[in-house]
Amino acid sequence: DVADIPGVPAWLPEHLQEDGIEALYPPQAEAVERGVTGGANLVASVPTASGKTLIAELAMFSAITSGTDGADDHEGTADETVTDGTALYIVPLRALASEKREEFEQFEAYGLEVGVSTGNYESDGGWLADKDVVVATSEKVDSLVRNDAPWIDDLDCVVADEVHLVDDGERGPTLEVTLAKLRKRNPDLQTVALSATIGNAEALAEWLDAELVDSTWRPIDLKKGVHYGQALHLEDGNQKRLPVRDSEKQTAAIVRDTLEDDGSTLVFVNSRRNAEAAARRLASTTDPHLDGEERDRLAEIAAEIRDVSDTETSDDLAEAVEQGAAFHHAGLSREHRSLVEDAFQERLVKVISATPTLAAGVNTPSRRVVVRDWRRYDGTAGGMQPLSVLEVHQMMGRAGRPGLDPYGEALLLASNHDELDELFERYVWADPEPVQSKLAAEPALRTHILSTVASGFANSREGLLDFLEATLYASQTTEGGRLETVVDEVIAYLAANDFLTRADDEEGTLRATSIGQTVSRLYLDPMSAAEMLDGLREFERTAGQRASRSAPDGEQDGEPPGFEPASELVSDAGDDIGESDDTPQPTAMGLYHLVSRTPDMYELYLRSGDEEEYSMEAYEREDEFLGAMPSEFEEGRFEDWLSALKTARLLEDWADEIEEGTITERYGVGPGDIRGKVETASWLLNAAERLAGEVGLDVTPAIREARVRVEHGVRAELVDLAGVRGVGRKRARRLFATGIESREDLREAEKSVVLGALRGREKTAENILTNAGHRDPSMEGVTPTTPDGDPTG
Ligand code: ADP
Repeated sequence: DVADIPGVPAWLPEHLQEDGIEALYPPQAEAVERGVTGGANLVASVPTASGKTLIAELAMFSAITSGTDGADDHEGTADETVTDGTALYIVPLRALASEKREEFEQFEAYGLEVGVSTGNYESDGGWLADKDVVVATSEKVDSLVRNDAPWIDDLDCVVADEVHLVDDGERGPTLEVTLAKLRKRNPDLQTVALSATIGNAEALAEWLDAELVDSTWRPIDLKKGVHYGQALHLEDGNQKRLPVRDSEKQTAAIVRDTLEDDGSTLVFVNSRRNAEAAARRLASTTDPHLDGEERDRLAEIAAEIRDVSDTETSDDLAEAVEQGAAFHHAGLSREHRSLVEDAFQERLVKVISATPTLAAGVNTPSRRVVVRDWRRYDGTAGGMQPLSVLEVHQMMGRAGRPGLDPYGEALLLASNHDELDELFERYVWADPEPVQSKLAAEPALRTHILSTVASGFANSREGLLDFLEATLYASQTTEGGRLETVVDEVIAYLAANDFLTRADDEEGTLRATSIGQTVSRLYLDPMSAAEMLDGLREFERTAGQRASRSAPDGEQDGEPPGFEPASELVSDAGDDIGESDDTPQPTAMGLYHLVSRTPDMYELYLRSGDEEEYSMEAYEREDEFLGAMPSEFEEGRFEDWLSALKTARLLEDWADEIEEGTITERYGVGPGDIRGKVETASWLLNAAERLAGEVGLDVTPAIREARVRVEHGVRAELVDLAGVRGVGRKRARRLFATGIESREDLREAEKSVVLGALRGREKTAENILTNAGHRDPSMEGVTPTTPDGDPTG
C-alpha cells in the first residue's frame, strides 16, 4: 500500500492515490525493500512501462526531504514542505529533459522546484543551486562538473535514466565518467540507475556499489510474435489468422485488423522520413474507421497542430491527423509531440508511426506494437545494421495498456519463411545483450582524461588510473594492463599537443596547461582543438611566407606580422573580412573547412560523382585551406578532406544566402541537418576564436565574421541586421533592399518602408522594431510602401 512507504514526504501517498496509484508494482515494492527511500544505491533493471519513474521519484523525494519529519501532519500545502537538498536526474537526450521536467513539475504544488539544464556548455549553472530537482543531460552534467559548479558537491541523490546507454559508443562514456566523478566527489551520494532489461544488470550494480532489482515483471502481459503470410505467429506457439489483402502492406493489414477490434497500433520505423511516409500511407487505412464525432475532434486537433508552426512538417502532420494517423519523431516540436500523444491516448489517433529515439521517455502504450524496421542505417558500420535485442524489446514493451487491454501484442514482420525463423531466433526468443563499457575508445578517453586532470580530479598518472578504476570499464575489463597502455598513449598525445604537462617525478605529476583548461571547458574533443590550432598556426606561417615571397627584397624569417597578404589570398578573402585590419585573414571557406574536418563535426558523405567534383574544387581553392592538403595517394585522408570540403561548401552556401530548398537538394540533406551543421559550426568557430585569442594568433576577426555569418545564414553586409531578434536571413535581405542596412537604420526607419519590406505583417514589424529599439514601434494606421526593385517581389 502506498500509505506504508517509509521515508517519503507526507504528501506523497495522497498524491499517488489521487493519481490512481494505490499499491506499488512489485519491482517498486522491491526497490523500497532494498532501501531506496532510505538512501540506498540501487540499480533497477525492469521492462519498459513498468514504473521506473516512480522508483526514481521515491528515491529523490525521500533524499531531498530527509531530515524533515514526515510524521508531523503535513497536509501537502506548498509552504510546508521543507527540502534541504537537491536531486539530479540525468536523461540521455535533450528532448527527454522537457518530458521529465513536465512529469516532475506536478510536484511543484508541494513546494518542490524543478529546473532543467540542457544547452549552453561552459557555465556553472549557478541558478540551479536553488532547485530541488534538476533535470539535465549527461553532457551537461559533465560540463557542469568541468566548470566546477559548486552545488554539484551538495547533491543528495543522482538518478541515471536509461543507464544501459553506457553501452552506446558515442554518449555512453560521458555518462559513465560523469557518474564516476559525481560519486568520487561525493561518496555519500545516493545513486539510482534505471535500466531496461539487460543481460548483465548485476555488473552495473557491482560497478555502482548498489542494490539490485532485476525483474521481468510487467503490469500487463506481453505476447511477442512475427507476422508472416496471412497469420500472426506468436511466441506461445499459437497462430492467429491475419490476412493481408491484395495491394495492402503488412503493416496496414495489422492496423486494420486492430481497428476492427477497436484498438490502436504503434509502428516503429527507422527514420524520420519513413515515419512521415508511413503515417501518410496508413491514414488511408484509419480514415474509413472514423465516425463523425471523431472527425470533428481530429479536425480541431489538426488546426491546433497547424497553429504551432507554419512549416511543411506541421502541415503533413495535420493532414495525417485529420484522418486518424500521425507520426512522431525527435524532429517534431514539443507542442506537436504532446498533441499527438494526447490524441493517441484519447484513442482519436489510431496509429502512430514513430522513430524509437523518444519512445523510451514517452508514455504511449498501445494495444499492438509493430516493429516494422529491424535494421537501421549505420554510417560507421557502413550500411544497414540489425537493431540490438535490447532496443527491439524496448519498443515491444510499449504494447498493452494496463487496465484496458487483456494483453499486448508486439510484432515483427517477415516477408519469407527464412526471415520468420530468423526473427524468432534473433528477437522473439533472444535475451537482451549485456551492456559493455565503451570508454576504452580513443576519442572518449582523450576527452575525459584531459577533463579529469583539468578539473582537478586527478593530478598524476597514478591518480588517473585510480580514478578510472571507478568506471564500469575498469570493472569489466579482463585484459590486465590494457587500461594502463591506453592511458599512457593518451597522456602522450595530450602532452605532445601542449594540453598537459608531465613532470619528471615519481608520481608522474600531470597538470593541464592553460590552453588545456580552455579545451576542456569548451567541451571540445582535444583532437578537434589540436586540428584547429594547427590549421590556424599553419595559416599564419604560410601567409607570412607568401607575403615575404612577394616582398621586394626577400624578407628574413622572423619578420613580424603586419605585411600585406599575398594577392591570391586577398582576391577570395576580400568580401569576407573587415578592411580595417591589414593582418592576413583566412577566408570563410578556409575556416568552415577547418572546423568541418575536426572529429566534433559529422561530415557529409561523398556520393558517387562527388569525389571528382570536390577534388577539382579542392585544387582550385587549395590556397584557402588552413593547413596542407593531403596528397591523393593518401586515400583515406584525401577522402576525409573532400568530405570536409563538401560540408564546408554547405556552410558556405548557407552563409551566402542560398535558399534552404536548394541546399537540401544539392547536398541530399534535410532542413534539420542544415541546422545541425550550422549549430556545430558556430560552436566550433566560437571555440576556435577563443583558442586563437589564447595563443595570440591574429585571426580572430575573420573567425568571428565567419561564425556570425553562418549563424544567421547571411553575407557580411547583413550581419548587423540579422542580429536583431526576429529578423532572420530572408527579412534582413528584404530590409536591406529598401535601404535599411543596419540595426541603426532600422531604429530610425520609416515605418511604412519596414512594413512594406515585411510584406504588411504588422505584428512582425512591431516586434522587430521593438527589438531594434525603435522609439515608437506601433504600426497602427501605417500602410506599407513597396519600394522599387524589391528583389523578392
Ligand atoms: P517506465 O519508466 O518504466 O517505462 P513509467 O514510469 O512511465 O514506466 O510508468 C508507466 C505507467 O505506469 C505510468 O503511466 C505510471 O503512472 C503508471 N504506474 C507506475 N507505477 C504504478 C503503480 N504502482 N500503479 C499503477 N500505475 C502505475
